[in-house]
Amino acid sequence: MRFKTHLSINLSRMSDNFNNLKQLAPHNEVLFMIKADAYGHGMVPVVNFCLDNLGIKEFGCASIGEAIHLRNELESSQFDIYVFSDLVLSETICKKAYSSKRILPVISDLRDLEIFLNDSEFKYVPLCLKFDTGMNRLGFEVTQLDEVMRMLKSKGRTSIEHLMSHFSSSYVGKNINSKSGKQYNLFKEVKASFQSSGFEVNKTSMANSGAIEQDIALDETHIRPGLIMYGPSSLLEFNPEWKGKNVSEFRTHIIKLKHIKKGDHVGYGDHVSKSGGTLVTLPIGYGDGIPSAYRNLTISHMGLKGKLIGRVNMDMSSFLFSDEAMDKFEVDQGVHIWDESVASFVQTCREIRTIPYELFCLVSSRVPRIYSLK
Ligand SMILES: *Cc1c(COP(=O)(O)O)cnc(C)c1O
Repeated sequence: MRFKTHLSINLSRMSDNFNNLKQLAPHNEVLFMIKADAYGHGMVPVVNFCLDNLGIKEFGCASIGEAIHLRNELESSQFDIYVFSDLVLSETICKKAYSSKRILPVISDLRDLEIFLNDSEFKYVPLCLKFDTGMNRLGFEVTQLDEVMRMLKSKGRTSIEHLMSHFSSSYVGKNINSKSGKQYNLFKEVKASFQSSGFEVNKTSMANSGAIEQDIALDETHIRPGLIMYGPSSLLEFNPEWKGKNVSEFRTHIIKLKHIKKGDHVGYGDHVSKSGGTLVTLPIGYGDGIPSAYRNLTISHMGLKGKLIGRVNMDMSSFLFSDEAMDKFEVDQGVHIWDESVASFVQTCREIRTIPYELFCLVSSRVPRIYSLK
């Protein structure tokens, strides 16, 4: 139980984000990426909401453990779960999950393909393949295409349920960086090779948020958005076209106000304050997902801006505001680390040299998620 500190999650904003997304990609089916506990927003409530309200029927996890958990929690609902990176095809429990719980492993190397094709447990599991088109992370090499086709044919597998690839740089403007276009062309070649060799390819996808925002790879049957569903644009440069709102707000409250003078010591290690002002202490620290690396973190409250000062503690952190704050603020007042405004969220990310993905994901389990619909 925790009072006055929580991640407040307004799922009706996810509907708004989804509607904005559908304007950008009206013709594509959506495979919604909910890895890392739905980017920190809570996988089960988020998926439940999407099933009931948005008509999304396909979701992407990173690990088989996440997928099993999701299936067990929402046992009576009909939807597909893909596992993208941490497959563990050789473990008996995992095999059973793939074969009996409609969980789809996205196979991306020859070793896993070998297991998948030769173990009878996977006989009726639909085949999903991911190709590396220039990221050098997961995915079959394009040069392995013939080998993959040979292996599939030798086992009588002529149908590919979902063919995929992933962009390395779709967050960069396509007019600045031509990498996404090159990767997409390569993906289309891989798809065409399968089709001309007699394979049936049911679904295809490549576009994540940044690609969707830039109208890249929308000719495929599916898109795979993550970030923009939670609010922020994925593009490095501010994207005025994207009207998303943060689904979450990180709220806490003031536990102490204290006036300090220039040269006073603050917190562990006797940090010396370079200026005087109002020290505002909050009951959140690195145990909550505010790492000490967020040195330039600022918060806004009642029109004033305060900057992180001294070391972040496990359970507390202090912000230095102007003298004026002493009269305006009160202990126990609620403050936001972030609110629904994507513009200020993105600004915060810049100040602390991180990306929206990371800021969301680091909010720890110490911070309760509280859900609402408005
Ligand atoms: C996380 C992920 C996505 C979604 O990326 P966003 O930039 O959040 O839209 C899409 N595809 C794969 C394979 C992913 O891992």
